[in-house]
Amino acid sequence: MSASFAAPLPPSVACERLGFFRWGRIAGKVLVTTDGGDWALLSEPEFVQLLAGEITAGHPRFASLRDGGFLRDGLDLDALGARLARRAGHVARGPERHVVTMTRRPVTDGRAPATAPDVRLDLDRTTAARIVDVALQSASPALSFELSAHFGEPLLNVDGIRHLVEYARETNERAAGKTLRFTLVSNLSRMTEETAEWLIANDVDVRTWLDGPAELHDWNRGYTVAGRHAEVAQWIERLDRRAREFGRDPGTWHVDVRMTTTRRTLSAWREVVDEYAARGLRSIRLEPLGPLGFAADVWRTIGYTAEEYLAFYDHALDYVLELNRGGVHLTERTASGFLNGILSAGNPAAREIRSPSPAGSSELAYDPDGRVFPNDEARRLDALGDSLFVLGNVRELTLADIVRHPTVRAIAAASLLDAQPMCADCWNKPYCGISPVSTYVRDGDLFGQRPRSFECREHMAVARTLFALLARDDDPTTLEILQRWTSEAGPHR
Ligand code: SF4
Repeated sequence: MSASFAAPLPPSVACERLGFFRWGRIAGKVLVTTDGGDWALLSEPEFVQLLAGEITAGHPRFASLRDGGFLRDGLDLDALGARLARRAGHVARGPERHVVTMTRRPVTDGRAPATAPDVRLDLDRTTAARIVDVALQSASPALSFELSAHFGEPLLNVDGIRHLVEYARETNERAAGKTLRFTLVSNLSRMTEETAEWLIANDVDVRTWLDGPAELHDWNRGYTVAGRHAEVAQWIERLDRRAREFGRDPGTWHVDVRMTTTRRTLSAWREVVDEYAARGLRSIRLEPLGPLGFAADVWRTIGYTAEEYLAFYDHALDYVLELNRGGVHLTERTASGFLNGILSAGNPAAREIRSPSPAGSSELAYDPDGRVFPNDEARRLDALGDSLFVLGNVRELTLADIVRHPTVRAIAAASLLDAQPMCADCWNKPYCGISPVSTYVRDGDLFGQRPRSFECREHMAVARTLFALLARDDDPTTLEILQRWTSEAGPHR
């Protein structure tokens, strides 16, 4: 039993009768959680009974607490081991997510022609083939390739995209037999009818950015790589319609829409959610803006504190739930990620917020020049002049060289929450995760300071809100919605 830093010490503890768990107080109840991700909300008297070893056969909570691994009596170590392995499975499988930067060419706005193909800035065929060959060395039975661009538009190198997809499919069929998924991450500014048809016919998913209503979205564009609102909205509608006409299941094939939250977004939570609902989008992903790449004066215009962001998140999440109660199916993906770890129906290994961090061990990013990074944030950091996370060049490395790189091991060690002060005792530890790359960008070191770091405050607040909702026995509709969110966020989680 590990005492939460947030709660007073209990009166007496029968350690020999207890499994290992952490605890904290939420919504007038005591939340207990195990490393396997099991949890229970207890009344204060039940918690005292648990600690005193008084929950034994015949007690109404005995069976559920025994099955969850909270009691030594009847503790099923094999089942607990299996649950733990399920949570950390991403580390053993090898890199499955490969973010490939197709070009570093800037996008010219409006309809002006793009700059000509540039061998220094575009991913060439030989390097693309090498990236695919190295990715296919992964032991993971499923791989995803995200085809992106430094300035938001990989379609500037559309021939490179077609080549990479076709080469990967052919090579995989001949030699690997894995399940492959491709996602174009594009601001859609260079989308054409021909490319749209090719993407749908070749089962390539599309991801883009929509920050809310036109006025907000186009204001945000001054600081982001998003395309113009009118163009983005039109292509989302056309791509989804063509996919339906092509016979794709709209439940699994739809444009994956992300948003950037700037200071201007904070007060517009209702308008942003309404925009997503009105367009029939299936999910919205509320997440804070990272400071990477913004000068101090720009950050003063668009940045905010954790407290300001969390007030926005609470308002927006409440409103998303309200719409769901009225019959709208709109999933909030930061919440659904946590719920995947909290509710047994979810897949905890499919989350982006995980411990150890997926960076380097289950996720890699590639620059057009062939250099490999633990994730795309590390690649963007390098583009700004800090090459701390570069792992070498894909032309000279095998996948084994990459995942054994000291930097990858340092990231894994720094993100292992069991080893971090405060996290080791935190009730949220089974559901939380810290990105050492983000922490380095924000705080200057791989570890970050709990509880002051932005990520810690965000993850603590989101999990606390969700558990407070789960604690409400009088609201089965909300419980049903939260349960549904573990399976309804679509294929782009
Ligand atoms: S980062 Fe914060 S919320 Fe997450 S486990 Fe550590 S202390 Fe808890």
